[in-house]
Amino acid sequence: MRCDYCQKVSDELPYKCKFCGGTFCSDHRLPENHDCIGLESYKDVKHEEFRGGVVRAAKEYDAKVKAYAGRGPDFRKLALYAVVLIIIAFIVYYLAKFLM
Ligand SMILES: [Zn+2]
Ligand SMILES: [Zn+2]
Repeated sequence: MRCDYCQKVSDELPYKCKFCGGTFCSDHRLPENHDCIGLESYKDVKHEEFRGGVVRAAKEYDAKVKAYAGRGPDFRKLALYAVVLIIIAFIVYYLAKFLM
């Protein structure tokens, strides 16, 4: 195969650039390394991916916050735990008094 950028002929596997469709050697397979005419769109794709990722993360965060807000604080559960704890404390207190 022959590299479209450096014209070097080698028997290694050709790398086909998915942005410009050219065939390149391993040194020039990256768009940055062969002055790829599709590089601008490549950057746009990366930019879109990044922006899409940020938007997606923000949406997920928003959904999570909404899910928590929809459930409301677990005050009733907390109060129940507190009551149970107090009862156990009293039982232990009376048992200790009784045993001593
Ligand atoms: Zn090359
Ligand atoms: Zn290219």
